[in-house]
Amino acid sequence: MSVYDNVALIRSNIEEACKRTGRNPADIRIIAVTKYVSIDRAKEALAAGIADLGENRDDGLLRKYEAIGKEATWHFIGTLQSRKVKNIIDKVDYIHSLDRLSLAQEIEKRAAQKMKCFVQVNVSGEQTKHGLAKEEVLPFIEQLRDFSKIEIVGLMTMAPYTDDEPFLRQCFRELKTLQQHVQALGIPNAPCTELSMGMSNDYVIAVEEGATFIRLGTSLVGNE
Ligand SMILES: *Cc1c(COP(=O)(O)O)cnc(C)c1O
Repeated sequence: MSVYDNVALIRSNIEEACKRTGRNPADIRIIAVTKYVSIDRAKEALAAGIADLGENRDDGLLRKYEAIGKEATWHFIGTLQSRKVKNIIDKVDYIHSLDRLSLAQEIEKRAAQKMKCFVQVNVSGEQTKHGLAKEEVLPFIEQLRDFSKIEIVGLMTMAPYTDDEPFLRQCFRELKTLQQHVQALGIPNAPCTELSMGMSNDYVIAVEEGATFIRLGTSLVGNE
């Protein structure tokens, strides 16, 4: 299927999930994850009306950014080594993988403007997943209170790869509960209103559970 057809199908799935749960489809942003695909394929996503592109490596991001530039809103979604921050900091609009103090310090040092960040949470506790444990999230965000270049816009998680729907639903619910706790703290640089959750295999469930950003690779641009 073309990217255009994929987008149409995804939008219709989102619309139905929203109908079931009383949400507004306009509150959900689709990030096309282009890490597996060519620049041309990324441009097809833009032509199909997707405004947000996501990459998980600094070199991949730079290659795409050189060709596309500010036409897209850029999301860094992968594990970010502190020494790579300087390569991407003036190009990306969002970082979805803030998970440690040393990374926050590097962003604080390098950013010219406030950087919108998601704190990555390992909700399921899977050994292979990056991100903070649930109980570490509130103290971590408290620690960042005086970081003038960091804005915690929300929480992000990668759910385990499984078709166990109740389990996925529970992961997404726990992230939302945590997001509401952070939001309720009223920390000025942590409005924490957003939820970055849902990938190709689980985005419908994520939307039903409150996702505001979904990150789609395979189902949207494919994985060549
Ligand atoms: C690759 C990736 C995605 C997209 O994965 P698909 O299953 O292909 O949709 C989403 N989020 C992160 C963090 C990724 O690394």
